[in-house]
Amino acid sequence: MDQKEGRAGERMGPARPFAAAAVFALLAATPKPSAAEGAARPVAVGVKLVQDAGAAVLTFDLSRPVDARAHTLASPDRIVVDLPEVGFQLDPGVAQPDAASAPALIKAFRFGLLAPGKSRIVIDLSRRACPVGVTTKPIVASAEPSRLTIDVKPCDDAAFAASAAATPDAPAASPGGAMGSAAPVIVLDPGHGGIDGGAHGVGGAMEKTLAFAFCVELKRQLEATGRYKVLMTRDGDQYVDLDSRVDFARDADAALFVSIHADTLSDVAGVSGSTVYTVADRASDAEAARIAAHENAADRDPTKAKAAEDDPGVADILFDLKRRETRAYSHLFSRTLVEDLRDATRLNHNPERSAGFVVLKAPEFPSVLIELGYLSNAQDVAALESPEWRTRTAAAMTKAIDAFFAGSGATEDAAGTPGVAFGADHAAPTR
Ligand SMILES: [Zn+2]
Repeated sequence: MDQKEGRAGERMGPARPFAAAAVFALLAATPKPSAAEGAARPVAVGVKLVQDAGAAVLTFDLSRPVDARAHTLASPDRIVVDLPEVGFQLDPGVAQPDAASAPALIKAFRFGLLAPGKSRIVIDLSRRACPVGVTTKPIVASAEPSRLTIDVKPCDDAAFAASAAATPDAPAASPGGAMGSAAPVIVLDPGHGGIDGGAHGVGGAMEKTLAFAFCVELKRQLEATGRYKVLMTRDGDQYVDLDSRVDFARDADAALFVSIHADTLSDVAGVSGSTVYTVADRASDAEAARIAAHENAADRDPTKAKAAEDDPGVADILFDLKRRETRAYSHLFSRTLVEDLRDATRLNHNPERSAGFVVLKAPEFPSVLIELGYLSNAQDVAALESPEWRTRTAAAMTKAIDAFFAGSGATEDAAGTPGVAFGADHAAPTR
């Protein structure tokens, strides 16, 4: 892959270089627009192009989110991205990819003011290609700076014409949203299954059955929004090992992974309520460590477990950066989810915890594991077995997921300081 970027000039070339490389560039160079200009209009302070003959990703780092709409133009073939007025504080020279990078998809690109209040990015193509995704997402959790990402892939004449016909008024992206031609993929992971029943509760309740029933209802509600593609790691009472669940989500290009479980506590019958877990190298508390150990032991394929630990990418700095930004997003979602669940169901006394869950370790997508309740608690079992409770609780989760993808969970900082410093600890995912 060839890369071209403004402000910072690192070149990197691992298999999935883009997200982490972009973060790296931000760490290296954090130009700050003037307060006056930033207040008046969004400012682009960084641009980066990563491409080869089969795909291109063009990104602009902006002081705040913008509405972006893309369409194609023929003779010569171009992709046009229309924006509200943006101050491009960029080196114009960055827009001409090196001749050495041919055969690349993007020949050149340019940007500037189209009319008062309107800016435009024009992408000159070396062959037929379509904008397959135009997204803006926060760069830093809980702050305004936003990354506009334009994904370009080769396409046939029909798709190119269809993309041209998509009028410039048809929204291709909304701030913080993950719209575009493809809906974000949410993978639901009902714990256990088949020979692995999971926890056994009072009255004969089985974790695998309750987790599955809940996921079916959550899937129904998420699909009803029309905003997501929803997949499940098992579609019935099958055994699926933990590593295969993660592989499934990775292959599906998941934007969010939600694992559903219900714990049991044989010794403490009084403990109850829902808990949301995120991954961490060190457990937040002894209870979290116990539950993670219990869930991880439940159904792990020993050969795959070994392979995961031998992964050479683990030591890579890019892997580490990507993992850090994904974890920041998992935490953001976890917080939103706990707040929405509060209105729908009883929460554990400590509802937001973290530990080393195997199914949450993928660095590619944010993920949470929800223990719906304790099967050792009769009240929790009654709730989990109730269709009414499932409907209400799935609705709360759908609300939290909507907020997460709409970016509202990421805009709590309304101060709007345009010159916010980009930090290593709070980077955003690029998809
Ligand atoms: Zn479980």
